[in-house]
Amino acid sequence: MLAAMGEFDLIARYFTRPVARAALGVGDDCALLLPAPGMQLAVSSDMLVEGRHFFADVDPFALGHKALAVNLSDLAACGARPLAFTLALALPQADEAWLQGFSGGLLALADAHGCELVGGDTTCGPLNICITVFGEVPVVNGISQALLRSGARAGDDLYVSGTLGDARLALEALRGNIDLPPELLAQARMRLERPTPRVALGQALRGVASAALDLSDGLLGDLGHILAQSGVGATVNAFSAIELIAAFAHPAWGSGLVSLKNQLEFALAGGDDYELAFTAPVSARDAVQAAARQADTPVTRIGHIDAEAGLRLQGASGQPLSGEFASFDHFA
Ligand code: ADP
Ligand code: MG
Repeated sequence: MLAAMGEFDLIARYFTRPVARAALGVGDDCALLLPAPGMQLAVSSDMLVEGRHFFADVDPFALGHKALAVNLSDLAACGARPLAFTLALALPQADEAWLQGFSGGLLALADAHGCELVGGDTTCGPLNICITVFGEVPVVNGISQALLRSGARAGDDLYVSGTLGDARLALEALRGNIDLPPELLAQARMRLERPTPRVALGQALRGVASAALDLSDGLLGDLGHILAQSGVGATVNAFSAIELIAAFAHPAWGSGLVSLKNQLEFALAGGDDYELAFTAPVSARDAVQAAARQADTPVTRIGHIDAEAGLRLQGASGQPLSGEFASFDHFA
Protein backbone atom coordinates (compact mmCIF):
# COMPACT_ATOMS: atom_id res chain seq x y z
CA MET A 1 0.00 0.00 0.00
CA LEU A 2 1.17 3.51 -0.81
CA ALA A 3 -0.60 6.58 0.51
CA ALA A 4 -0.82 9.92 -1.38
CA MET A 5 -1.60 9.00 -4.98
CA GLY A 6 -2.78 5.52 -4.05
CA GLU A 7 -1.37 2.25 -5.18
CA PHE A 8 -3.87 1.52 -7.93
CA ASP A 9 -3.74 5.01 -9.44
CA LEU A 10 0.01 4.71 -9.50
CA ILE A 11 -0.06 1.32 -11.23
CA ALA A 12 -2.66 2.54 -13.72
CA ARG A 13 -0.80 5.75 -14.52
CA TYR A 14 2.79 4.55 -14.79
CA PHE A 15 2.85 0.79 -15.23
CA THR A 16 -0.23 -0.26 -17.19
CA ARG A 17 0.04 -0.63 -20.94
CA PRO A 18 -1.76 -2.59 -23.60
CA VAL A 19 -0.11 -5.91 -24.45
CA ALA A 20 0.19 -7.50 -27.88
CA ARG A 21 2.45 -10.53 -27.42
CA ALA A 22 1.21 -11.59 -23.97
CA ALA A 23 -2.34 -12.96 -23.69
CA LEU A 24 -3.11 -10.85 -20.57
CA GLY A 25 -1.22 -7.99 -18.94
CA VAL A 26 -1.60 -5.84 -15.80
CA GLY A 27 -4.95 -5.86 -13.96
CA ASP A 28 -5.85 -9.40 -13.00
CA ASP A 29 -4.40 -11.78 -10.44
CA CYS A 30 -2.04 -13.34 -12.98
CA ALA A 31 -0.62 -12.30 -16.31
CA LEU A 32 -0.92 -14.85 -19.11
CA LEU A 33 2.03 -15.44 -21.43
CA LEU A 34 1.83 -17.04 -24.81
CA PRO A 35 5.21 -18.43 -25.88
CA ALA A 36 5.24 -19.35 -29.59
CA PRO A 37 4.95 -23.08 -30.39
CA GLY A 38 8.26 -24.93 -30.07
CA MET A 39 9.68 -22.34 -27.68
CA GLN A 40 11.00 -22.80 -24.16
CA LEU A 41 10.53 -20.03 -21.58
CA ALA A 42 13.78 -18.54 -20.22
CA VAL A 43 13.21 -16.83 -16.85
CA SER A 44 15.52 -14.61 -14.79
CA SER A 45 15.22 -12.16 -11.86
CA ASP A 46 17.50 -9.35 -10.73
CA MET A 47 17.08 -6.99 -7.80
CA LEU A 48 18.47 -3.46 -7.51
CA VAL A 49 18.80 -2.01 -4.02
CA GLU A 50 19.53 1.64 -3.24
CA GLY A 51 23.00 2.16 -1.77
CA ARG A 52 24.20 -1.17 -3.03
CA HIS A 53 23.44 -1.08 -6.78
CA PHE A 54 22.80 2.62 -7.37
CA PHE A 55 23.21 6.00 -5.70
CA ALA A 56 20.08 7.54 -4.12
CA ASP A 57 20.34 10.59 -6.41
CA VAL A 58 20.71 8.69 -9.70
CA ASP A 59 18.60 9.99 -12.58
CA PRO A 60 15.32 7.98 -12.37
CA PHE A 61 15.16 7.57 -16.17
CA ALA A 62 18.63 5.96 -16.13
CA LEU A 63 17.61 3.79 -13.18
CA GLY A 64 14.52 2.54 -15.00
CA HIS A 65 16.68 1.73 -18.00
CA LYS A 66 19.31 -0.08 -15.96
CA ALA A 67 16.81 -2.10 -13.90
CA LEU A 68 15.47 -3.70 -17.08
CA ALA A 69 18.82 -3.74 -18.91
CA VAL A 70 20.49 -6.00 -16.33
CA ASN A 71 17.61 -8.44 -16.69
CA LEU A 72 17.60 -8.35 -20.50
CA SER A 73 21.34 -9.01 -20.29
CA ASP A 74 20.59 -12.36 -18.60
CA LEU A 75 18.22 -13.28 -21.44
CA ALA A 76 20.92 -12.25 -23.93
CA ALA A 77 23.44 -14.53 -22.22
CA CYS A 78 21.10 -17.48 -22.77
CA GLY A 79 20.36 -16.54 -26.37
CA ALA A 80 16.73 -15.83 -25.51
CA ARG A 81 14.41 -13.39 -27.24
CA PRO A 82 12.69 -11.07 -24.71
CA LEU A 83 8.94 -11.61 -24.32
CA ALA A 84 7.65 -10.02 -21.10
CA PHE A 85 8.59 -8.89 -17.61
CA THR A 86 7.14 -8.21 -14.17
CA LEU A 87 8.15 -5.39 -11.84
CA ALA A 88 8.11 -5.62 -8.03
CA LEU A 89 8.70 -2.16 -6.65
CA ALA A 90 9.15 -0.87 -3.09
CA LEU A 91 8.98 2.95 -2.90
CA PRO A 92 9.44 5.27 0.09
CA GLN A 93 6.79 7.62 -1.35
CA ALA A 94 4.80 8.13 -4.56
CA ASP A 95 6.92 10.92 -6.04
CA GLU A 96 5.34 11.69 -9.42
CA ALA A 97 8.41 13.24 -11.04
CA TRP A 98 10.47 10.23 -10.01
CA LEU A 99 7.81 7.76 -11.23
CA GLN A 100 7.55 9.62 -14.55
CA GLY A 101 11.31 9.36 -15.10
CA PHE A 102 11.66 5.80 -13.85
CA SER A 103 8.77 4.38 -15.87
CA GLY A 104 9.93 6.40 -18.90
CA GLY A 105 13.41 4.84 -18.88
CA LEU A 106 12.06 1.39 -18.10
CA LEU A 107 9.38 1.36 -20.78
CA ALA A 108 11.55 2.97 -23.49
CA LEU A 109 14.01 0.07 -23.21
CA ALA A 110 11.13 -2.41 -22.96
CA ASP A 111 9.62 -1.05 -26.19
CA ALA A 112 12.99 -1.16 -27.95
CA HIS A 113 13.10 -4.90 -27.27
CA GLY A 114 9.40 -5.72 -27.64
CA CYS A 115 9.39 -6.85 -23.99
CA GLU A 116 6.00 -6.24 -22.36
CA LEU A 117 5.34 -5.23 -18.75
CA VAL A 118 2.65 -7.71 -17.73
CA GLY A 119 2.41 -7.39 -13.95
CA GLY A 120 4.18 -6.86 -10.68
CA ASP A 121 3.72 -5.68 -7.13
CA THR A 122 3.91 -2.22 -5.56
CA THR A 123 4.52 -1.53 -1.90
CA CYS A 124 5.81 1.14 0.46
CA GLY A 125 9.37 0.69 1.73
CA PRO A 126 13.01 1.54 1.10
CA LEU A 127 13.58 1.86 -2.67
CA ASN A 128 14.01 -1.63 -4.11
CA ILE A 129 13.39 -2.77 -7.67
CA CYS A 130 12.99 -6.42 -8.59
CA ILE A 131 12.31 -7.43 -12.18
CA THR A 132 11.62 -10.88 -13.57
CA VAL A 133 12.03 -11.30 -17.32
CA PHE A 134 10.62 -14.00 -19.55
CA GLY A 135 12.13 -14.84 -22.91
CA GLU A 136 11.80 -17.46 -25.62
CA VAL A 137 14.40 -19.97 -26.77
CA PRO A 138 13.75 -22.43 -29.60
CA VAL A 139 13.82 -26.16 -29.03
CA VAL A 140 15.06 -27.96 -32.17
CA ASN A 141 14.59 -31.73 -32.47
CA GLY A 142 13.98 -31.87 -28.73
CA ILE A 143 17.21 -29.97 -27.98
CA SER A 144 17.14 -26.55 -26.31
CA GLN A 145 19.10 -23.92 -28.21
CA ALA A 146 19.77 -21.96 -24.99
CA LEU A 147 23.39 -20.91 -24.43
CA LEU A 148 24.62 -22.29 -21.10
CA ARG A 149 27.67 -21.81 -18.88
CA SER A 150 28.51 -25.48 -19.02
CA GLY A 151 29.41 -25.96 -22.69
CA ALA A 152 33.02 -24.66 -22.93
CA ARG A 153 35.58 -27.21 -24.21
CA ALA A 154 39.40 -27.23 -24.16
CA GLY A 155 40.71 -25.52 -27.30
CA ASP A 156 37.69 -23.19 -27.67
CA ASP A 157 38.34 -19.50 -28.25
CA LEU A 158 37.23 -17.03 -25.59
CA TYR A 159 35.51 -13.80 -26.66
CA VAL A 160 33.90 -10.74 -25.10
CA SER A 161 31.47 -8.31 -26.74
CA GLY A 162 31.76 -4.53 -26.78
CA THR A 163 33.86 -2.73 -24.18
CA LEU A 164 35.14 -3.49 -20.69
CA GLY A 165 35.97 -1.43 -17.62
CA ASP A 166 34.30 1.90 -18.42
CA ALA A 167 31.52 1.42 -15.86
CA ARG A 168 34.13 0.92 -13.14
CA LEU A 169 36.10 3.92 -14.40
CA ALA A 170 32.95 6.04 -13.98
CA LEU A 171 32.26 4.61 -10.54
CA GLU A 172 35.77 5.48 -9.33
CA ALA A 173 35.40 9.00 -10.72
CA LEU A 174 31.99 9.47 -9.07
CA ARG A 175 33.49 8.24 -5.79
CA GLY A 176 36.17 10.91 -6.18
CA ASN A 177 39.04 8.42 -6.52
CA ILE A 178 39.96 9.47 -10.07
CA ASP A 179 39.85 12.85 -11.79
CA LEU A 180 38.37 12.58 -15.28
CA PRO A 181 37.83 15.33 -17.85
CA PRO A 182 34.06 16.03 -17.92
CA GLU A 183 33.47 14.68 -21.46
CA LEU A 184 35.24 11.46 -20.58
CA LEU A 185 33.27 11.08 -17.36
CA ALA A 186 30.02 11.65 -19.30
CA GLN A 187 30.91 8.88 -21.75
CA ALA A 188 32.00 6.42 -19.03
CA ARG A 189 28.96 7.28 -16.95
CA MET A 190 26.69 6.23 -19.81
CA ARG A 191 28.26 2.78 -19.61
CA LEU A 192 27.63 2.66 -15.85
CA GLU A 193 24.11 4.05 -15.84
CA ARG A 194 22.73 2.98 -19.23
CA PRO A 195 24.28 -0.38 -20.07
CA THR A 196 23.37 -1.92 -23.42
CA PRO A 197 22.10 -5.49 -23.07
CA ARG A 198 23.54 -7.54 -25.97
CA VAL A 199 20.21 -9.09 -26.84
CA ALA A 200 20.70 -9.38 -30.62
CA LEU A 201 24.19 -10.85 -30.22
CA GLY A 202 23.00 -13.50 -27.76
CA GLN A 203 20.39 -14.71 -30.23
CA ALA A 204 22.84 -14.60 -33.16
CA LEU A 205 25.26 -16.79 -31.16
CA ARG A 206 22.76 -19.66 -30.77
CA GLY A 207 24.25 -22.68 -32.49
CA VAL A 208 27.64 -20.90 -32.71
CA ALA A 209 28.88 -20.31 -29.12
CA SER A 210 29.61 -23.32 -26.92
CA ALA A 211 29.06 -21.40 -23.65
CA ALA A 212 28.08 -17.87 -22.66
CA LEU A 213 27.28 -15.62 -19.72
CA ASP A 214 26.84 -11.91 -19.14
CA LEU A 215 29.42 -9.85 -17.25
CA SER A 216 27.91 -8.23 -14.18
CA ASP A 217 30.59 -8.76 -11.52
CA GLY A 218 33.77 -8.44 -13.60
CA LEU A 219 35.33 -10.56 -16.35
CA LEU A 220 37.59 -12.83 -14.28
CA GLY A 221 35.10 -13.63 -11.56
CA ASP A 222 32.26 -14.23 -14.00
CA LEU A 223 34.47 -16.27 -16.33
CA GLY A 224 35.12 -18.47 -13.29
CA HIS A 225 31.48 -19.59 -13.51
CA ILE A 226 31.96 -20.86 -17.07
CA LEU A 227 35.20 -22.61 -16.07
CA ALA A 228 33.67 -24.25 -13.00
CA GLN A 229 30.51 -25.38 -14.76
CA SER A 230 32.37 -26.60 -17.85
CA GLY A 231 35.18 -28.29 -15.87
CA VAL A 232 37.93 -26.44 -17.80
CA GLY A 233 40.51 -23.65 -17.33
CA ALA A 234 41.39 -20.61 -19.44
CA THR A 235 44.19 -18.36 -20.60
CA VAL A 236 43.29 -14.67 -20.94
CA ASN A 237 45.36 -12.01 -22.65
CA ALA A 238 45.09 -9.21 -20.10
CA PHE A 239 46.24 -6.60 -22.60
CA SER A 240 43.60 -7.54 -25.15
CA ALA A 241 41.14 -6.94 -22.32
CA ILE A 242 42.43 -3.49 -21.34
CA GLU A 243 42.39 -2.39 -24.98
CA LEU A 244 38.61 -2.78 -24.73
CA ILE A 245 38.29 0.14 -22.30
CA ALA A 246 36.35 2.58 -24.52
CA ALA A 247 37.75 5.61 -22.68
CA PHE A 248 41.13 4.86 -24.32
CA ALA A 249 39.72 5.89 -27.67
CA HIS A 250 38.31 9.16 -26.34
CA PRO A 251 40.27 12.31 -27.32
CA ALA A 252 40.28 13.45 -23.67
CA TRP A 253 42.11 10.30 -22.54
CA GLY A 254 45.60 11.00 -21.18
CA SER A 255 48.15 8.36 -20.25
CA GLY A 256 48.51 9.74 -16.72
CA LEU A 257 44.80 9.47 -15.90
CA VAL A 258 44.73 5.85 -14.77
CA SER A 259 47.66 3.60 -13.83
CA LEU A 260 48.25 0.35 -15.68
CA LYS A 261 47.37 -1.51 -12.51
CA ASN A 262 44.00 0.26 -12.37
CA GLN A 263 43.39 -0.34 -16.07
CA LEU A 264 43.89 -4.06 -15.52
CA GLU A 265 41.65 -3.98 -12.49
CA PHE A 266 38.87 -2.12 -14.31
CA ALA A 267 38.92 -4.31 -17.44
CA LEU A 268 39.42 -7.64 -15.67
CA ALA A 269 37.44 -7.18 -12.48
CA GLY A 270 35.48 -3.94 -12.94
CA GLY A 271 31.89 -5.15 -12.93
CA ASP A 272 28.71 -3.60 -14.36
CA ASP A 273 29.84 -4.09 -17.98
CA TYR A 274 26.83 -6.17 -19.08
CA GLU A 275 28.78 -7.50 -22.03
CA LEU A 276 28.68 -11.15 -23.06
CA ALA A 277 31.64 -13.45 -22.50
CA PHE A 278 31.42 -16.57 -24.63
CA THR A 279 33.40 -19.48 -26.01
CA ALA A 280 33.29 -21.06 -29.47
CA PRO A 281 35.32 -23.71 -31.28
CA VAL A 282 38.17 -22.46 -33.48
CA SER A 283 36.24 -23.82 -36.47
CA ALA A 284 33.47 -21.30 -35.73
CA ARG A 285 35.61 -18.13 -36.04
CA ASP A 286 33.88 -17.02 -39.26
CA ALA A 287 30.47 -17.80 -37.78
CA VAL A 288 31.29 -15.73 -34.68
CA GLN A 289 32.23 -12.74 -36.83
CA ALA A 290 29.08 -13.21 -38.92
CA ALA A 291 26.97 -13.21 -35.72
CA ALA A 292 28.74 -10.04 -34.55
CA ARG A 293 28.00 -8.31 -37.87
CA GLN A 294 24.40 -9.49 -37.86
CA ALA A 295 23.95 -8.10 -34.33
CA ASP A 296 25.98 -4.98 -35.15
CA THR A 297 28.01 -5.62 -31.98
CA PRO A 298 31.81 -5.89 -31.98
CA VAL A 299 33.35 -8.99 -30.43
CA THR A 300 37.02 -9.52 -29.51
CA ARG A 301 38.93 -12.76 -28.99
CA ILE A 302 40.80 -12.38 -25.68
CA GLY A 303 41.99 -15.91 -24.91
CA HIS A 304 41.21 -19.59 -25.05
CA ILE A 305 39.93 -22.48 -22.98
CA ASP A 306 42.41 -25.01 -21.53
CA ALA A 307 41.94 -28.56 -20.29
CA GLU A 308 44.01 -27.62 -17.23
CA ALA A 309 41.88 -26.05 -14.48
CA GLY A 310 42.54 -22.47 -13.31
CA LEU A 311 42.99 -19.14 -15.00
CA ARG A 312 46.25 -17.91 -16.52
CA LEU A 313 46.79 -14.27 -17.42
CA GLN A 314 49.11 -13.31 -20.27
CA GLY A 315 50.86 -10.03 -21.03
CA ALA A 316 50.93 -8.25 -24.38
CA SER A 317 53.24 -10.75 -26.11
CA GLY A 318 51.87 -13.89 -24.53
CA GLN A 319 54.23 -14.08 -21.53
CA PRO A 320 52.68 -15.08 -18.20
CA LEU A 321 51.69 -12.02 -16.22
CA SER A 322 53.63 -11.80 -13.01
CA GLY A 323 53.89 -9.94 -9.72
CA GLU A 324 51.10 -7.63 -8.58
CA PHE A 325 49.26 -7.84 -11.91
CA ALA A 326 48.83 -11.59 -11.64
CA SER A 327 46.93 -11.04 -8.39
CA PHE A 328 43.93 -10.03 -10.48
CA ASP A 329 43.41 -13.73 -10.97
CA HIS A 330 40.88 -14.02 -8.13
CA PHE A 331 40.39 -17.75 -8.26
CA ALA A 332 43.78 -19.21 -9.21
P1 ADP B 1 -2.76 -8.82 -6.08
O1 ADP B 1 -3.13 -8.15 -4.80
O2 ADP B 1 -3.86 -9.65 -6.66
O3 ADP B 1 -1.45 -9.52 -6.04
P2 ADP B 1 -2.13 -6.21 -6.83
O4 ADP B 1 -3.28 -5.50 -6.26
O5 ADP B 1 -0.85 -6.22 -6.10
O6 ADP B 1 -2.58 -7.67 -7.16
O7 ADP B 1 -1.86 -5.65 -8.30
C1 ADP B 1 -2.92 -5.36 -9.18
C2 ADP B 1 -2.44 -5.58 -10.59
O8 ADP B 1 -1.42 -4.65 -10.87
C3 ADP B 1 -1.87 -6.97 -10.85
O9 ADP B 1 -2.22 -7.33 -12.18
C4 ADP B 1 -0.39 -6.75 -10.73
O10 ADP B 1 0.32 -7.68 -11.53
C5 ADP B 1 -0.25 -5.33 -11.26
N1 ADP B 1 0.90 -4.59 -10.68
C6 ADP B 1 1.11 -4.25 -9.39
N2 ADP B 1 2.24 -3.52 -9.25
C7 ADP B 1 2.76 -3.39 -10.50
C8 ADP B 1 3.91 -2.76 -11.04
N3 ADP B 1 4.79 -2.09 -10.26
N4 ADP B 1 4.12 -2.84 -12.36
C9 ADP B 1 3.27 -3.52 -13.15
N5 ADP B 1 2.16 -4.11 -12.72
C10 ADP B 1 1.89 -4.06 -11.40
MG1 MG C 1 -4.51 -11.25 -6.41
